[in-house]
Amino acid sequence: MRIQLLPSTFNSDGHATPEQRLTCFLIDESVAVDAGSLALALSAEQREKVRDIIVTHPHMDHIASLPIFIDDLFPTLKTPVRVYATPEVISLLERDIFNWNVYPRFSELKNDYGPVMQYVPIPAGQEFKVAHLTVTAVAVNHIVPTVGLVVSDGRATIAFSSDTSETEEFWIILNRAPSIQALLIEASFPDSMAQLAEVSRHFTPASLKRELSKLKHNGLDILAVHIKPAYRATIIEELSALQIPGLGVMEPGTVYEW
Ligand SMILES: [Zn+2]
Ligand SMILES: [Zn+2]
Repeated sequence: MRIQLLPSTFNSDGHATPEQRLTCFLIDESVAVDAGSLALALSAEQREKVRDIIVTHPHMDHIASLPIFIDDLFPTLKTPVRVYATPEVISLLERDIFNWNVYPRFSELKNDYGPVMQYVPIPAGQEFKVAHLTVTAVAVNHIVPTVGLVVSDGRATIAFSSDTSETEEFWIILNRAPSIQALLIEASFPDSMAQLAEVSRHFTPASLKRELSKLKHNGLDILAVHIKPAYRATIIEELSALQIPGLGVMEPGTVYEW
């Protein structure tokens, strides 16, 4: 499975900057997990391949360019863009984003070929198919309804924590998988901001370390994501001081393969 954390920002020569401001993972060039930078970071050719988007939760950094992505494709879509989310998240997207005030309600609009956007409600805790992938979504502990994901292509299995703090069911599902090649897990705030991390339901390096004691698999890559740009250097220093085998930081723009 090939996974890229899409860049959020670019420097003056057009290369991805190392900071992550938005969240969007592209899997095998065709399935997106969240859509923060989806409309900003894809080439025209890549844009043509993505029709399946799993939205873990409706926070702006995860959905910022979802309306723009569909808007860009509006006249040419021959099949709708499928947005996979829990029923709660679909309701929030319809109420707060695609509400005719912030943006048009694309789920009610058609182009010359038919509907342009289709919601696919996802069941919590049960497997479902997205393109060639088998996905299990698990509720995690964030301040809005949010799911973590365990994604398999039949050869590799990769887990995405999404935004979360201390949680239980995610680890049960993840530990049940026969093998896991990589865990992409959030580390939003430095240890000095543990209180803000707690109220906003995010990890710091210290709380991430405690949480990783629930992981039963060994020898996998553990890549920290969702590192707040303002505290990036400190968080990376604190993560490396943990000396956890396999723990690194996922770089936006790099394609990882498992
Ligand atoms: Zn969030
Ligand atoms: Zn976030």
